[in-house]
Amino acid sequence: MAHDPDCIFCKIVAEEIPAAKVYEDDYALAFMDISQVTKGHTLLIPKDHQPNIFELQEETAAYLFSLAPKIARAIESEFQLEGMNLLNNNHETADQSVFHFHLHFLPRYDKDADGYKPKWQTHSDQYTAEDLQHMAASVKKQLDLTT
Ligand code: AMP
Ligand code: ZN
Repeated sequence: MAHDPDCIFCKIVAEEIPAAKVYEDDYALAFMDISQVTKGHTLLIPKDHQPNIFELQEETAAYLFSLAPKIARAIESEFQLEGMNLLNNNHETADQSVFHFHLHFLPRYDKDADGYKPKWQTHSDQYTAEDLQHMAASVKKQLDLTT
């Protein structure tokens, strides 16, 4: 199991620092985010130190995501939420601040006023249907090289 001594989440896994744990098994850990964006904001991580989605092992991803509905339902049962966003940031440009893969569970209570405000501006007018076909073909080519 990879462990980075400088990684804050590895320190939580190793119980060098405390966390408000929600779920734990040999491979995964879920705990309350220390900066609650909304009430019940929870993080799910693999115990193994894998920095981001690009480096996440498929086996780890499969196991981690298999836990996601269970954790989402437990949060849903406990809080009077009206919705939930799952979020994962990768690299600084995408607002990643802890470089150990994690999935945010963000309970939503009020669309406009509960503190969760992702910036989301569409640029659909800049891409034709043909552009989308080209982009899809080039990504598909990459996938065909690796699968
Ligand atoms: P991200 O910006 O997606 O990398 O998210 C990292 C998250 O980790 C932030 O929401 C932080 O509030 C959270 N975080 C950082 N340190 C701790 C900690 N010691 N315990 C719980 N959550 C933490
Ligand atoms: Zn780590």
